[in-house]
Amino acid sequence: MSTDTLTNEAKRENAAMLAAALGIGVEAAGEALQFEVAITADPTDATATAIAADMASLLGRTIRSATLGEADEAVVLEILIGDVGAKAGRRSLRIHVGSEGAVIGGPHVLCLLVACHAAAATMQAIFQDRLPFGSSPLRVSFDQFGIEPMEFEAPVDIGHAYLAGAGAIGNGFLWAARHLDFRGTLDIADDDDVSSGNLNRQIWFTKDDIGLPKADRLAALAQGSFPRLKLIPRRLRLQDLPEKSNGPWLERLFVAVDSRRARRIIQREFPGEVFDASTTDIREVVIHHHKQPTLHACLSCIYEADQEEFTREHHIAEHLGVSAEEVRSERISDPAAKKIAARIPNLEASALVGIAYDTLFKQLCGEGTLQSLEGRRIVAPFAFVSVLAGTLLALEVLRRRGAKRGAADCNYWRVSPWHAPRGRRRVMRPRQPGCEFCDNPVKRCTLGRGWSEPPNITGVVEESLQFDFG
Ligand SMILES: [Zn+2]
Repeated sequence: MSTDTLTNEAKRENAAMLAAALGIGVEAAGEALQFEVAITADPTDATATAIAADMASLLGRTIRSATLGEADEAVVLEILIGDVGAKAGRRSLRIHVGSEGAVIGGPHVLCLLVACHAAAATMQAIFQDRLPFGSSPLRVSFDQFGIEPMEFEAPVDIGHAYLAGAGAIGNGFLWAARHLDFRGTLDIADDDDVSSGNLNRQIWFTKDDIGLPKADRLAALAQGSFPRLKLIPRRLRLQDLPEKSNGPWLERLFVAVDSRRARRIIQREFPGEVFDASTTDIREVVIHHHKQPTLHACLSCIYEADQEEFTREHHIAEHLGVSAEEVRSERISDPAAKKIAARIPNLEASALVGIAYDTLFKQLCGEGTLQSLEGRRIVAPFAFVSVLAGTLLALEVLRRRGAKRGAADCNYWRVSPWHAPRGRRRVMRPRQPGCEFCDNPVKRCTLGRGWSEPPNITGVVEESLQFDFG
């Protein structure tokens, strides 16, 4: 796949990310991404060919071209998967599969996981020491996930669940979950439309989807891959859905929204069980899970307001000519749109209403309209990072479903795309003192009773934690 499938806006998003990572200008970064790789896999090895196809999809969203098969003269790196020979004199990156029998004939979702890490390794091979992640050999070992092999084939009944966010991680989640046997109903809540700058990382979407509602397009594109999971598009943010109530209305929730603040707002709905994935630009993926009743961290504890968020909001407000309070409201209001249009040339106020501040700001950064960049968190990650987050989110469902031991002992896992996943980095994050949700006993007491007997995904072991309000 080549980046001909990408719009100029999507290419600029990639360039802005690389620019932030390398500490160079956006234009130079855009040029640095214009390289080609060829991917060659052992055709007799189904695992190798699956990884190759996934890598081509992921890298095709990031660099100029990632083609399967024969390498032409323009290729700067040949990626060799499985038992294939290198071309004499050409630089190559070799990916061994199944050296310990873990991958051979392995589930496709694990091939996708390897492809995400292999895409990161490809970038590392090209940019070497300029990327600050180190370049030791990367070994993805599946015993780190705590999932029994038979779990990959078994049906996973998620009941009636919600997915908050049909952006990069929501796309990645369904991109990975299509290799699993998910069943039930999934409402996909997102009020945003696909924009041209999304195509670098929202893996289901193509140019044909630009301007259309994300929730509708994701449900329509993915449904064919989920014969037993009904996908229902909802063109609203989760907290705006009409079925929302003060009682326990949200049994199970997958969180794939795009900001820390949005996660805290979602926590106010008091979801019964939360599967959450987030990215910290291209450095890291965070996986969080909790199920009420819990004594441990909620979304608001994990994503508490921090100095970087505060600084960034003020930075955005200053550049756009609005107040920080307006930026915190997330979406651009009618009066705010007029102020922004008055401040920044060539913007039409009517076209700005309803857009997320982060989205507009990213767009303006990519276009070089705003020169300085406060904090890298605003920059959109590469496709393989968002898809890694979505894949780990899907795997977390399997892990919880089949968990015999240990799953209840941790609620937080940080995984770097640039290093091997390590199960022992899972931790149990405690409640955060001053959490806007956990430190509100009235809210917990009023809303929480409904979750005194939380529903289970079929097959999940009970967590024996105490309910703590009152
Ligand atoms: Zn909390």
